Amino acid sequence: MPATVISGKVLSQELRAGLAAPIAALAARGIRPGLTVVLLGDDPASVSYVTGKETTSVELGMKGETLRLPASTSEADLLALVAKLNADPEVHGILVQLPLPNHIRSDLVIQAIHPSKDVDGFHPASVGQLILGGQGFIPCTPYGVLKMLENTGLPLAGAEVVVVGRSNIVGKPLALLLMQAPYHCTVTVCHTSTRDLAAHTRRADIVIAAAGRPGTVTADMVREGACVIDVGVNRVPDDSKKSGFRLVGDTDYEPIAQKASFVTPVPGGVGPMTIIMLMYNTVKAACLKHGVPFEI
Ligand code: NAP
Repeated sequence: MPATVISGKVLSQELRAGLAAPIAALAARGIRPGLTVVLLGDDPASVSYVTGKETTSVELGMKGETLRLPASTSEADLLALVAKLNADPEVHGILVQLPLPNHIRSDLVIQAIHPSKDVDGFHPASVGQLILGGQGFIPCTPYGVLKMLENTGLPLAGAEVVVVGRSNIVGKPLALLLMQAPYHCTVTVCHTSTRDLAAHTRRADIVIAAAGRPGTVTADMVREGACVIDVGVNRVPDDSKKSGFRLVGDTDYEPIAQKASFVTPVPGGVGPMTIIMLMYNTVKAACLKHGVPFEI
């Protein structure tokens, strides 16, 4: 039987509904959750992500603004801007779009964001909370994947999960989250030094591909009935498209869909989930600041 497709487009729309109550409770006090995205330069993928974030926040009745700066902006100027946003009471969440130009130390910029406004969940304080099982901001892409897995109804406690990729923004936080309560999965993390990737993925109940390389996980690497989540977003040349490229994930979607229990498409899978979880984190930040319950 072909796999059930977990549509991030559909699920993210459903999750929007959950934000209505806290947004209304904030509005009753005259507060609009404010998200400020800072973008340096005009990298097409970053511009596309930032536009999606701005559009969604405005649709939800939030105050979404994007500060577009030249790629030549100095590190000192960017840090000064972050300090200004930290002090702005109307800004509840700050997101500096990565990657930053090479002359800027990303870690310094991330550490400059006040942890109470760190809606991307990349500040060391948020990462520490995540490791300790605390209540900090969960990075948006792993958060979206968790929501997708919850939505499958699959039993997660004790499930064998193989995460392909160990980046700070996807693989590592996902692995840490899934091994903890309330998920209790048994997690294996693979990377480019993993000796036999297929041997790991073949025994997994859940495979999560976050490698950033098309075709990293093929159908023969997945067991019958597994759930396969594809985080990858890769641009491959395609002359039939006006843009000259199409987006593909890290897995061989069609053949895997013939044997898996659940699959996620690219585009329309994890991408829209990442954006809605950013909205969750921003509304949560506003609620925490103003003492409004955030019970989602
Ligand atoms: P990254 O920083 O480049 O990390 C990729 C990871 O995958 C690394 O740990 C790398 O191992 C591992 N890897 C690469 N090729 C591999 C292979 N053949 N076998 C095993 N492991 C392999 O990428 P990222 O930032 O985590 O992003 C991963 C993908 O997700 C990208 O396509 C990105 O565009 C996408 N993404 C999507 C969203 C979304 O919202 N949908 C959000 C974030 C990222 P080493 O550590 O050994 O190099």
